[in-house]
Amino acid sequence: MSDYTRSLLPIRWADATKPAYDVVIIGGGGHGLSTAYHLAARHGITNVAVLEADYIASGNTGRNTTIIRANYGLPEAIRFYQHSLELYQQLEAETGAAILHQTKGILWMAHTEMAMRTERARCLMNAAIGAKTEMVTPAQIKGLVPQLDLTGGGRYPILGASYHVEAATARHDRVAWAYASGASLRGVDLLQHSPVTGLRVEAGRVVGVETPAGPIGAGVVLSAVGGRISAVAAMAGVRLPVRTHPLHAFVTNDHAQGFGPIVASTELMCYASQTDRGQMLIGAEFDAQPSYSRQSSFSALRGYTWKITQLLPFLRQMRILRTWAGICDISADYSPIMGFTPTEGFLVTTGWGTWGFKAIPAGGEAMAELIATGRTPELIAPFALDRFTRDHVLADQGSAGTR
Ligand SMILES: Cc1cc2nc3c(=O)[nH]c(=O)nc-3n(C[C@H](O)[C@H](O)[C@H](O)COP(=O)(O)OP(=O)(O)OC[C@H]3O[C@@H](n4cnc5c(N)ncnc54)[C@H](O)[C@@H]3O)c2cc1C
Repeated sequence: MSDYTRSLLPIRWADATKPAYDVVIIGGGGHGLSTAYHLAARHGITNVAVLEADYIASGNTGRNTTIIRANYGLPEAIRFYQHSLELYQQLEAETGAAILHQTKGILWMAHTEMAMRTERARCLMNAAIGAKTEMVTPAQIKGLVPQLDLTGGGRYPILGASYHVEAATARHDRVAWAYASGASLRGVDLLQHSPVTGLRVEAGRVVGVETPAGPIGAGVVLSAVGGRISAVAAMAGVRLPVRTHPLHAFVTNDHAQGFGPIVASTELMCYASQTDRGQMLIGAEFDAQPSYSRQSSFSALRGYTWKITQLLPFLRQMRILRTWAGICDISADYSPIMGFTPTEGFLVTTGWGTWGFKAIPAGGEAMAELIATGRTPELIAPFALDRFTRDHVLADQGSAGTR
């Protein structure tokens, strides 16, 4: 566990942009900053600008519930997320930043025989690819989290769970800050309050971006804009199989420290963990209605609280301190979309939906390699956009943790 008192590393902010860069990254969230960091640190490519419309990590990267895990249901996804989980384990050592990484484990609880079969299959598949996930009995679950009501409020009995032992959390804004610091000190220009308002296209190729301060030339433009992808891709004439949905979360007042692993229910689609400060952090499924609203909603709060208190009745005695929402780019198959688009010079890292925080290290590392070499790394080849036209979708909704 890292030291809370260690201060943030410095960031070199650029005052103005150059007329042109080798790479312009739109969006200063985790994925944009991680790509910039890896371009500079692994490939020595520093003629790069990251343009952020607001402040860095103001999007989903600073709004998520910080769960890092690799217990997916498809080999391609397990391999990718396990690599990311391992990069997170080394991130403090690599960057020197205190990201408050803590390995906690996560319990995915099953309430029906069908869910038990799914979780058993998940354990086998995870073990085959190298992610540590094992089945646990109700007695073992109670030992790990004594606060759980094993009857699930009488309606959602806990029959067992898959226990993914290496699941972790890390402080989200510190992750963004770590990459921002590492990239900027190596020479990448970071600009906040610099929205991209258009793309410059010449002879069918993206050659730069438009901003309120004027145009900027680019060898390559990468869009890493979270829930704003449909608008930005449209600027390049690209239509993606992505819809944007709000996702909410809330925290309670402090609870005595020592709450065990993160708990999640496969049927109720809700989860809870304890923050470093002791607050209980609760999340659940995204809003069914697509929207760009980041307004918290009472109906989401009511639904989330009902669900989670079926499992953790002690939460009824707690106060809700804060609630917030982000807007998530949900792809048609619940898997990310990384790489080239039909428009030359325009790349995307998108479809991170409600699950992309855990992917920030591996996603940025792979996108940087793709940009530096012009070749798609094997690890992310299955997540290319053309999978939808090749009919090779990676449908993994059951592993998204939300629906
Ligand atoms: C409530 C909630 C809980 C979540 N919980 C988890 C979790 O526990 N684990 C997990 O793995 N994932 C989780 N996620 C998902 C995760 O947060 C996202 O997938 C991830 O942060 C996406 O990162 P990003 O860099 O792609 O996007 P963002 O962090 O959204 O960054 C995109 C940035 O682009 C900027 N931008 C947009 N348009 C423009 C423009 N035109 N010009 C310039 N800049 C622009 C935005 O201002 C923003 O800062 C959660 C999300 C939410 C909302």
